[in-house]
Amino acid sequence: MMGMWMAGLTGGDQDSRQQQQQAAMGMNVAELRTELREMRGQIGKLALMNQALWELLCQRLQLTDDDLAKIAQEIDLRDGTADGKMTESPVRCPQCGRISNSRHWKCLYCGLQFEKPAMG
Ligand SMILES: [Zn+2]
Repeated sequence: MMGMWMAGLTGGDQDSRQQQQQAAMGMNVAELRTELREMRGQIGKLALMNQALWELLCQRLQLTDDDLAKIAQEIDLRDGTADGKMTESPVRCPQCGRISNSRHWKCLYCGLQFEKPAMG
């Protein structure tokens, strides 16, 4: 099995393999570039609005960068991993058994408040 897999990877037919992968993803390189450019534009807008919101909050509520760092760390840890990102992981509700997102502190279906272990 492993041999077959390796043979497939190292075959001289790289171009058609790439085309197959692109076809499987439903996008070609030009489309991906366009999408990437659009996403960069969206991230730029989001970063601007994020900064504007933060500066507005600082002015109006006398918050500091330390306050922001503190809450960011707390939110980061909700998914059980301190990785500087808000990783979304599925959490099964112990009460109704349905799947919610770790981003939320409670079950979206029955409203049960999750304890920290349920988030990990
Ligand atoms: Zn529930």
